[in-house]
Amino acid sequence: MNLDDTPLDLQSLVIHGDQDWSRPELNDTALAPAIYTASTYCARTSEEFAAMANEPRHPRYYARYGNPTQERCERLVARLENAESALLCASGMGAMSTTLLSLVKAGDHIVAQSAHYMGTSQLLTDLLPGLGVEVTLVDQRDADAFREAVRPNTRLFIVETPSNPTLALTDLAAVARFARAHGITTLADNTFASPINQRPRDFGIDLVLHSATKYLGGHSDLIAGVVCGNADSIERIWKRSIALGTNVSPFTAFLLLRGLRTLPLRVERQSENALALARFLEKHPAIARVHYPELESHPQHALFKRQMQHGGGVLSIEFKGDAHTGYKAAKRFAASLKLARHAVSLGGVETLVVHAASMWEASLSPERMQATGISPALVRIAAGLESAADLCADMEAALAAAAA
Ligand SMILES: *Cc1c(COP(=O)(O)O)cnc(C)c1O
Repeated sequence: MNLDDTPLDLQSLVIHGDQDWSRPELNDTALAPAIYTASTYCARTSEEFAAMANEPRHPRYYARYGNPTQERCERLVARLENAESALLCASGMGAMSTTLLSLVKAGDHIVAQSAHYMGTSQLLTDLLPGLGVEVTLVDQRDADAFREAVRPNTRLFIVETPSNPTLALTDLAAVARFARAHGITTLADNTFASPINQRPRDFGIDLVLHSATKYLGGHSDLIAGVVCGNADSIERIWKRSIALGTNVSPFTAFLLLRGLRTLPLRVERQSENALALARFLEKHPAIARVHYPELESHPQHALFKRQMQHGGGVLSIEFKGDAHTGYKAAKRFAASLKLARHAVSLGGVETLVVHAASMWEASLSPERMQATGISPALVRIAAGLESAADLCADMEAALAAAAA
């Protein structure tokens, strides 16, 4: 059967999209994927050896170059992101660092957001400038800011929407349209939305990256990253990944494939729970602000409707009070929850919360924290799969404890 030309819903793709429809004779008849732990593969003839060594991305050559379990998982993620090809890496940061190091060199210029995942910000403000790459950070809520920051040597725009932890949005279509017209590559970190709520390539973005540790894996039991795009770009990034050694383990690729089967079910439920929590917390007298794009009160709600299905599983709240009392209330709230757990990360089945300022106060100056939009009174909530009623009750009790 060749399903390549049949448009399948994402719900069907996650179940069948790892099969190679163009070469059905190669598909394993075992319904669950095998885990190929071999570090190396044998050739039967010298011609076969030459083919293995020279064909890019051969899945049976040497395991740093890839393996059949990984290839199957990559095929599925590429289809989910409406891309030709994908590369799995050892972590989201492995995917980000490998991608950046394959796209830019000394003398090039990047325009990125002032609010990015902290590891990405470190690459942009520390590692890349040290290698002679220029970086300009702009306020992502203003699509014109990307255009205004362009120089003759600008090679790359990096966007991340919704952003961490204030859920600010970037206009994907506007940024992609301008970049295309000027030959600038675009890279979107789509971790927070997941392909269920947003597909950046449908808006003209070139490369889409995920921390697969979060929603794609979905069970808080693996670390992986992935980058998707056209086959030429991904082959170039793959060449860097074999030199940098950022390859994923076959066991992780297996676990990720297993997690992906339920991605739409999980993300739909997490998005419903996050919206229920956002509506409940918005009405609570102790809360000054709720940041969640699906709320009508979100300043970019019109953009949300243009580019996202639902708001996703992450929201953040700010307590009332000044820098001191708001900070203390946020800290007490995070520590008083019983059902929701106090831990970094997101995208798993358990609801997790973090008090952002305690997480970053050791590494960020108060000015940098303010520039990224991190109020001392901010708590990020990543909804899991529990019942919305139980989660609201847990939050209500912790709010009462924080006020006491
Ligand atoms: C977690 C995360 C990363 C980094 O991914 P790791 O898998 O932890 O290396 C990058 N971007 C975003 C938005 C993230 O949430």
